[in-house]
Amino acid sequence: MQKEYDAIVLGSGVGGCCAAALLAYQGKRVLLAEKRSYLGGRFSTVNRDGYLCATGGLAVPVGRNLDEVCQQVGIPSGVKPSTKVATWLDGKIYDHKSGVTRRIIREVADSPEEAQRVLHALNRAMEWEAPGNHISFRDWLNQYTRNSRIHGMFQSTISSLLTVNSNELPAGEYFKVIKVISPLTFGFIEGGSLALWLRIGELVKQAGGEVLVGAAAQKILVTDHRVSGVHLRYKRESHLLSAPIVISNLGPTATASMVDSTFMEDSYLAQLDKITPTAIMWLHFASNELLMDYSAIGVGCSRRVNMIDVPSLEAGGVAPPGKHLYTVGAAPLDSISPVDIKSEFEAVMADLRDIFPSFDEHCQILSKTCYRGKWPGFRTVSGSRPSHRTPVENLYNVGDGVCPPGYEGSMGAAKSAQLVFEGIVSRDVLAAV
Ligand SMILES: Cc1cc2nc3c(=O)[nH]c(=O)nc-3n(C[C@H](O)[C@H](O)[C@H](O)COP(=O)(O)OP(=O)(O)OC[C@H]3O[C@@H](n4cnc5c(N)ncnc54)[C@H](O)[C@@H]3O)c2cc1C
Repeated sequence: MQKEYDAIVLGSGVGGCCAAALLAYQGKRVLLAEKRSYLGGRFSTVNRDGYLCATGGLAVPVGRNLDEVCQQVGIPSGVKPSTKVATWLDGKIYDHKSGVTRRIIREVADSPEEAQRVLHALNRAMEWEAPGNHISFRDWLNQYTRNSRIHGMFQSTISSLLTVNSNELPAGEYFKVIKVISPLTFGFIEGGSLALWLRIGELVKQAGGEVLVGAAAQKILVTDHRVSGVHLRYKRESHLLSAPIVISNLGPTATASMVDSTFMEDSYLAQLDKITPTAIMWLHFASNELLMDYSAIGVGCSRRVNMIDVPSLEAGGVAPPGKHLYTVGAAPLDSISPVDIKSEFEAVMADLRDIFPSFDEHCQILSKTCYRGKWPGFRTVSGSRPSHRTPVENLYNVGDGVCPPGYEGSMGAAKSAQLVFEGIVSRDVLAAV
């Protein structure tokens, strides 16, 4: 291991890998240090019985920030667009042709007047003035309708995209996100997401940098209010490494905890106190039979399930030949402080048996996980994120804990890396190294 780098990136999630790739492509010697045994954090894949199951996210907005970074550094993202998408609402399937939200509202409303009321409110919020964040999205919608299927459709969109329930999302955040996300198509990474992070790892090494797994940051060092290096634990030894730039993908709270508190501003720490990690339930199952004709469905009016993806329908190499891999997302009743995870998963199973009546006959469960706390759905609820800069000069955060308004998940994490990279270039921090 070298002792000095142009930049050290702590954590290899989407944000960390994208930042490392952008710097390495500029010819900088980067250390990408990851605590776990694999790259990609909450957006990777692990092999379970021959199926490449997602360690977290798997759906990538096609052509957006992650794709942009790959294009910028000259490696294939491998993203294959999801071609057959639908919404399952109370047992009925609605194909995703343009204007699906409005079409569903018109179809499920109890009267044309109710549909008009909701559609006008949506238009006003999108085109005139969006609501503030003082009430939840559910309370905002309750002003116009109590129709359970209209609520169910929005709950599906919100909980699958933002990992909170509609009563937990500040109303204004929905409109910020939907403006960015609604025109997008999502896709899955060919050969599983890990394949992309390994390509980025190669790029870092070719530029003279290093990629270490099983390497945990312990402390971030500061000299004269500027970052100067890190203490890293690797192969049972502690290493002191120096660099003029440190980019942390650990989440803003964990980053701050590694810095001597005298360098942290009170106003920044007060912002960190508002961070609220979200929870998500994630289940993978396999089947020999294809259970649905879609590679992604949003699910509404269920107990807990909000989406089912079939990545094997679009991306090669994620399931054994002729077999199918399904990923199920679900929101706990309380996605800020979930309780009784066992009964939450019983509700998920009851949903799956409703959606696929032959579930028990054809399907094999591969994994079930509830993400929360330090390994969350999102690092914090939309609307409560600090900046990617910290009070320590040249110490940056990347990842979904610091993405700008409207950007979420993998797209937001990649966007945060783009912002950090642009900031480094524009401040000419690298000119000296
Ligand atoms: C179940 C689930 C499903 C999701 N579905 C989607 C989806 O389909 N599409 C989408 O866009 N988003 C989705 N998301 C959100 C998306 O996965 C995350 O927003 C994104 O992966 C976050 O990336 P990140 O850059 O914040 O890094 P993280 O994934 O948080 O990675 C941080 C890395 O830092 C490492 N680390 C921690 N401590 C240390 C240390 N001391 N030293 C070194 N390394 C350390 C960790 O091991 C980890 O690898 C989902 C999330 C979950 C949990």
